[in-house]
Amino acid sequence: MIFTVAIDGPAAAGKGTIARAVAAEFGFAHLDTGLLYRAVGAKGGDPVAAAQLTPEDLARGDLRSLEAGQAASRVAAIPEVRAALTRFQRDFARQDGGAVLDGRDIGTVICPEAEVKLFVTASALVRAHRRWLEVGGDEAEVLAQVIERDARDAERATAPMVAAPDALLLDTTELSISAAIEMAVEAIRQRIGQGRA
Ligand code: C5P
Repeated sequence: MIFTVAIDGPAAAGKGTIARAVAAEFGFAHLDTGLLYRAVGAKGGDPVAAAQLTPEDLARGDLRSLEAGQAASRVAAIPEVRAALTRFQRDFARQDGGAVLDGRDIGTVICPEAEVKLFVTASALVRAHRRWLEVGGDEAEVLAQVIERDARDAERATAPMVAAPDALLLDTTELSISAAIEMAVEAIRQRIGQGRA
């Protein structure tokens, strides 16, 4: 069965948690596409050359840091870097057995034919607070970085972060993550049901 769940949205909105939960629920493979851009940014040097990733690049222990997030969003604005990572993501999305990908452009660029598209968001304050609980440090600085990264991701010319017109919007500012997971699972169940009808 080919079935793709595309989950897009800004940092710390809950995309990853929702993606892992629905992948487990339906037995789908999961790809955190942000990790690809983080790995390219963390390598340093020429970003286009760095986009030829190896499994070791993805296994680095420092990819989750705030600095790696900032470096990722800088290299992610380079069209040649995005192009180098496209084929792997498309093949992953359309593999047999179902796939969940979370990122910024999955429902718009990588897999516009995805069977289910979700756009997960939350206010910048709430997202910064969640990120701060994970990484610590100065909360105001974490908020400033979240805002800076959102702007860079939303305003870039190539594959900007935007909700696909047919995406289900999940705003987790007030909604708990478990309620958001339930809504995502329900949307996927309905779509699978339509496929069988
Ligand atoms: O999701 P995560 O915070 O790990 O993503 C890091 C950065 O990678 C994002 O800020 C964004 O610039 C970039 N990214 C992207 N397209 C994706 C996934 C991530 O441009 N599909």
